[in-house]
Amino acid sequence: MVPNPHNYTLLLERWKPIVDRNGWHSHELGQDGGHKIVAFENEAAKQCSTGGFYLSAGVHGDECAPVWALLKWAESIEPTSRLHSRPLVIMPCLNPHGFIQNTRFDSRGTDLNRNFQNAEMPLIGEWQRLLHGRQFDLAVNLHEDYDAAGIYLYELSRKQSIGDTLLSACEEIIPRETASEIDGTEMVNGLLERTDDIERIANEELGGWPESIWLYLKHSTNACTFETPSEMDLDRRIEAHQRFIKTATLAHLP
Ligand SMILES: [Zn+2]
Repeated sequence: MVPNPHNYTLLLERWKPIVDRNGWHSHELGQDGGHKIVAFENEAAKQCSTGGFYLSAGVHGDECAPVWALLKWAESIEPTSRLHSRPLVIMPCLNPHGFIQNTRFDSRGTDLNRNFQNAEMPLIGEWQRLLHGRQFDLAVNLHEDYDAAGIYLYELSRKQSIGDTLLSACEEIIPRETASEIDGTEMVNGLLERTDDIERIANEELGGWPESIWLYLKHSTNACTFETPSEMDLDRRIEAHQRFIKTATLAHLP
């Protein structure tokens, strides 16, 4: 249970002991509305630019369950976990202004998730520099949807799809979305797959690059965007996101 789900100070306080005990490195990517935006990477990510995981939450500030789920998942990593030997880069909350204000946008009214190509934005410029030259096995982007009644997943993959397996692991917590399309894209049993035409979709249909598309085209073999219905009970949403992160990372460990 989270006492105030939009308390950014509390969020950073809870990340600090995790970062300290694991010896992770912290980067300040910038500030928005006076709130610093941080990124963490483990020692393996510092040493090696290939493989491992990129995990991100809080791009849309009104989607708070993923932010707490990512924290709780990180709190639960055992010292003996094989994850520590793989590169791990974490964005705990890329939009602190939106998170505090419970709004989708940053302090300038910008939807970050249509601007990951836009290096003229100071945050995005720093973010691109941090990721320069890296190639992950998996990028995970955690979101919520206030129109949805169940969980669903956008999967961008250069390997055989494991999206159905990932949804199966989470559906005992929240059932799958039953709609047959989301924003004009066909969805089958909660899974949306895109394999081609992705850059054109980002530029022409979406009007800018979501985090997942930038990551998939430039930095990752696979990119998953997992969504929970944001009108549902917060604890269940947090639990579903935790389960998703755990299952997706374990599935991609060599
Ligand atoms: Zn979102």
